[in-house]
Amino acid sequence: MRALTFKNIKQVRVEEVDEPKLLTADDVIVRVSHTAICGSDLHVYHGREKGMKPGTVMGHEFVGVVEEAGHQVEGLAVGDRVFSPFTTNCGQCASCKSGLTCRCEHGQLFGWVSDHGGLNGVQTERVRVPLAQSTLKRIPTGLSPEVALLLGDVLSTGAYCAERAAVSEQGSYAVIGCGPVGLMAITACRWRNAGQIYAIDLQPDRLAKAREWGAIALTPAEASDRNLVVDGVLEAVGSPAASRLALQLVRPGGVISIVGVHNEPHFAITPTEAYDKNLSIHIGRCPARRFMDELMPFVNSNPYDLASIFTHQLDLDDAAEGYEIFDQKRDGCLKVMLKP
Ligand code: NAD
Ligand code: ZN
Ligand code: ZN
Repeated sequence: MRALTFKNIKQVRVEEVDEPKLLTADDVIVRVSHTAICGSDLHVYHGREKGMKPGTVMGHEFVGVVEEAGHQVEGLAVGDRVFSPFTTNCGQCASCKSGLTCRCEHGQLFGWVSDHGGLNGVQTERVRVPLAQSTLKRIPTGLSPEVALLLGDVLSTGAYCAERAAVSEQGSYAVIGCGPVGLMAITACRWRNAGQIYAIDLQPDRLAKAREWGAIALTPAEASDRNLVVDGVLEAVGSPAASRLALQLVRPGGVISIVGVHNEPHFAITPTEAYDKNLSIHIGRCPARRFMDELMPFVNSNPYDLASIFTHQLDLDDAAEGYEIFDQKRDGCLKVMLKP
């Protein structure tokens, strides 16, 4: 079967790989119908995130159809249309039970294989899903595959970022980074009736979308010049510059909620700076499996065309070009969907 594999920095390629097989009785094989490229894939693509084995199938955002199921899998049957968080989870361990499904003791991240093992990704025709029963969820009637795909990662991550920023009606908030995650964070702020939402990015197309979705759009320079001060900052970039801007914008006693993936060795905010502003700083991976349940009322009633962020749809064969387009934000690209 065909899959997009990682070769080296900025070198990804569609090639023939082995078909996945059921390895345990808890596994399922899913035929991928839709998959997407994420900002997190770009960290690997650029070599900022190191240690992935060449030949690894990339990607972690997908929906598809159950094609084969191990004999211990309950509640899922061949032919079911399913969506998935970007990590697997057992549903039983302390982390899972507390709702932090992304830190399951037995969980794995799709599309990450190192010298110590790991799980192949989903930018391919078929994928093996371990712990399938507690990881996958059947797509309910009325939920489009596009929005199900967003729920598996960026929509849930935006909502998690807003939850940890304690976004509420009284407050003013700045979302730094208006890529797919930041845009979804803006919709989550709206859902929580945030008093004021500022959206900060460098890309005019992305700022335009943020404005369309009700935020006050600013460049980082404009935000600095205005001496903007907010109760909470939602950081969806993952860079030292974004951390510095977050520190500048947040009020004393405020919250910085970070979902951007940081690969630098030291945090760009010093302990003294955090102390001197009495900050709360939250950072981490989104427990998307929990949000796939909790966000159903939101996706059923929100006023936004969430799937409109899929500005580009390509065949899996053109996935390498998809990475270039998304990385360079070419042709107003917000997010790329791949159809195997
Ligand atoms: P993206 O690369 O499309 O978006 C990042 C955006 O940040 C871009 O629009 C870029 O122009 C903007 N940006 C860059 N530097 C900036 C700055 N200094 N100030 C303001 N804006 C700036 O990626 P995405 O898919 O939206 O993902 C965003 C981040 O979230 C990535 O780091 C990704 O790895 C991470 N992520 C984390 C989780 C999680 O579970 N925590 C899940 C998904 C994605
Ligand atoms: Zn992702
Ligand atoms: Zn678990």
